[in-house]
Amino acid sequence: MASTTPRTNLPPEGNTPFQNSGRLNAANPDENSLIVHPQAFQHDWLRRWRSTIIVAGLAVLIAPFTSLGSWFSLTRAPIDPINYALRTRRILETTPLIDGHNDFPWLLRVELHNRIYDGKFDPNQRLLGHTDIGRMRQGMMGGQFWSVHVKCDAAQKHFEDPSWIVRDTLEQIDVAKRFIAESPEVFTYCETPSCARASFRKGRIASMLGIEGGHQLGGSIAAVRQAYDLGVRYITTTHNCDNAWATSASTVARGNPDKGLTSLGAAYVREMNRLGMMIDLSHVSHQTMRDVLSITQTPVIFSHSGAYSVTPHLRNVPDDVLRGIRQNGGIVMAVFVNRFLNMQDPGAVTIHDVADHIWHLAQVAGWEHVGIGSDFSGTPFTPSGLEDVSKYPDLIELLMARGATDDQIKLLVGENILRVWESIERRAREIQSGGEKPVEEEWEGRKWHKGYKNSPYMYRETRERAAREDWGQPDQFNVGKTGQHGTIVKDEKDI
Ligand SMILES: [Zn+2]
Repeated sequence: MASTTPRTNLPPEGNTPFQNSGRLNAANPDENSLIVHPQAFQHDWLRRWRSTIIVAGLAVLIAPFTSLGSWFSLTRAPIDPINYALRTRRILETTPLIDGHNDFPWLLRVELHNRIYDGKFDPNQRLLGHTDIGRMRQGMMGGQFWSVHVKCDAAQKHFEDPSWIVRDTLEQIDVAKRFIAESPEVFTYCETPSCARASFRKGRIASMLGIEGGHQLGGSIAAVRQAYDLGVRYITTTHNCDNAWATSASTVARGNPDKGLTSLGAAYVREMNRLGMMIDLSHVSHQTMRDVLSITQTPVIFSHSGAYSVTPHLRNVPDDVLRGIRQNGGIVMAVFVNRFLNMQDPGAVTIHDVADHIWHLAQVAGWEHVGIGSDFSGTPFTPSGLEDVSKYPDLIELLMARGATDDQIKLLVGENILRVWESIERRAREIQSGGEKPVEEEWEGRKWHKGYKNSPYMYRETRERAAREDWGQPDQFNVGKTGQHGTIVKDEKDI
């Protein structure tokens, strides 16, 4: 190759300007054989390094907007290790701080009925509560999983009964996406970890969606798939009520037995693994945590939970599960909700209690398996010192004062959740390339609509059964007086 290539002083193909050092050229025997006049050498020097200088200059100019930013910041002068504020700032400039759970879209629902364009709503202004854009910027946030939450409904008697909760969940997905899209200079909507990283490099807050409970999908695995297609990237397996998949922590707290995961719950785990959707175990019972860990093929997350050994609230994660998380490769994102942090005296909770929980999670599960999941805007009371989204840096400084290293903090604030998400994506690709079909199981109590007496059936057996059981005529089919699906309307005025 070298013999057919014209002699040139430009860097050889494939070499970056940084690699094209004088040492490389000195090692070239052809270069060494040249006798160069000092004047000519000066010009030659300029010619040789011109492109390098131009590229380096450009790199400095664009560094803040690219991954080169981190390269340059790494080269900055070392800082005093007890200058926690500066250490924190440097980390958050190069590693995205990603919170696992914020209920802000719920406030758009209850306070604004999801109307965000009528001039009343301005997240750039200082709002009441915990979250607005100004304070997110102050808190140096790099990403947020926005919870698209709708409460469990006591009127929902059957697990498969979708009632209006599935509709309301669709509305929450819609309003969260519209809220994110309204501030493109601040937020970037993301469905992949690579999008989250790229968004952070551009100075935006990566914005992802999570559904907080299987009740929001009517316990339907087909609905889980559609939630994935709508961009939702985690599902909290239960909220404060049991569903077709699993037992919730609240059920056990009320003195009921902990039945863990149901058989449909096992199918849900299988489908979540296949889809590449994160399984969130915050809110589930301890047995559900153990059951899921025993069968999942991917890491799991806790989007907002604490350490049970520090505060024995059933919403928190016991040590055996923390050791399981270490094995599983997953993550527990530490919650800031006062009553989970101090059951005796929630009003006395401070930022130090959160640090205690994080420290315990890190000691038992490992620093590779801990993150931050505040539950801001989803709880009325937060620890003093951690009042809102502007306060994350204070928490990091406190952890540094307790001895956390920069590498541990980088894992905690964002690297862990991105690694977990990437590994879930990777495993899903493997499962799908193995040809595994989407799960078709449904809840055992599921009621299905019947057909009509004279439907154009595919199977003779169905047609005969329809006639035998008098399934009715097409225009008479509806939900009957009993409210049971598939019953036949006998009375014309019921139609
Ligand atoms: Zn919650």
